[in-house]
Amino acid sequence: MSLFVQKFGGTSVASISHIENVARRIIATREAGHDVVVVVSAMGHETDRLVDLSNEIGTLTPPMFREMDVLLSTGEQVSIALVAMMLTKMGCPARSFTGGQVRITTDSSHTKARIEHIDESNLRGDIEAGIVPVVAGFQGVDAAGNITTLGRGGSDTTAVALAAVLKADECQIYTDVEGVFTTDPRVVADARCLTSITFEEMLELASLGSKVLHTRAVEFASKYRVPLRVLSSFRDAPGTLITNEEDSAVEQPIISGIAFTRDEAKLTVRGVKDVPGIASKIVGPISDSNIEVDMIVQNVAADKSTDFTFTVQRSDYDQAMSILKKVAQDIDARDVTGDNKIAKLSIVGVGMRSHAGVASKMFRILSEESINIQMISTSEIKISVVIDEKYLELAARALHSAFDLAPETVKA
Ligand code: ADP
Ligand code: ASP
Ligand code: MG
Repeated sequence: MSLFVQKFGGTSVASISHIENVARRIIATREAGHDVVVVVSAMGHETDRLVDLSNEIGTLTPPMFREMDVLLSTGEQVSIALVAMMLTKMGCPARSFTGGQVRITTDSSHTKARIEHIDESNLRGDIEAGIVPVVAGFQGVDAAGNITTLGRGGSDTTAVALAAVLKADECQIYTDVEGVFTTDPRVVADARCLTSITFEEMLELASLGSKVLHTRAVEFASKYRVPLRVLSSFRDAPGTLITNEEDSAVEQPIISGIAFTRDEAKLTVRGVKDVPGIASKIVGPISDSNIEVDMIVQNVAADKSTDFTFTVQRSDYDQAMSILKKVAQDIDARDVTGDNKIAKLSIVGVGMRSHAGVASKMFRILSEESINIQMISTSEIKISVVIDEKYLELAARALHSAFDLAPETVKA
């Protein structure tokens, strides 16, 4: 007998008939002799709907972040109740748990909280009594009892964290595609479903925009050695297993996947003096406002002054711009410019470590499509470029085919 944590995403619980399908899967696993702990997301696009409602009130300020979490957590609360009711109706004893009822304790960073502790006793009790616990993903409580959420896509992290504390045999992330693909199958039609991918690559893909898994879920699974699988709620197929590199039997391809995100904006402070301390004076106030700075480029100074460019999430663009305008005055820079219609596209693969020429090939393919590269950043296993958002799909398709990622071109 094994213990599985099965997480079902928004599309998988989008309606009562979808919930019935989910319940059938859970019951089939139980009938095969296994224990199951279920984690669910909000139904369909419910979280987006709740975000839109709050946007009608206006731009969120920090005192509203607490209320945002109270609002967002309602989506998952609806799903757990309906899934538990459906299971019960179908003859499978089940009980719903909010994050607070499990006692998933997080820090107090509203809208992007981190799990600090999980009390497994309630869940263990139910598992031993033959009851299926149905846990709300994406939410917890802080030490003072405030409801918190883990950031968009965070139900994956709830599932992996529960699998880690319960020492589950596998954490299964059921979603609306068959597994992890070479790139987003909704953008590149001939993207291929991978049978396995290393944690290291999956971490890069997730953090660079492949939303099929929440980045922190991958981090957690790697740290606590949780066997993690992504698979379809709608089709019976083995899906994708996330593995350790050393366990991989086959030689790794040079590029395993392509990730991209439109959630990007860039800001440039022009005419900055080339003196020590300038980078900290520019980036410091941005970070102090809890805005994450991603890629940074500082040019070599000509005439003792230079330009300083960095990227932030698109939703932080307006705030970052107003902070920078003030900073620019303080440090006597010429002006601040920005662009919030950019996208970041990245190629990822552990095989890059032992192969030269990957970057030059990527740049050549993009130039053949007349796509201008605005910024570049590299690490051992990834190369990212910032390009105009309108060329994103063209770039993804061109790179996917040039790096032989499509099914018919993959060599055994
Ligand atoms: P869920 O609601 O089940 O959590 P998400 O929408 O968060 O589902 O994630 C699944 C989606 O991730 C897919 O529908 C797909 O469009 C997108 N996606 C992006 N990159 C990839 C990839 N490399 N492999 C699979 N899916 C991807
Ligand atoms: N419902 C939340 C979201 O849409 C969490 C999740 O689905 O993982 O982001
Ligand atoms: Mg998701």
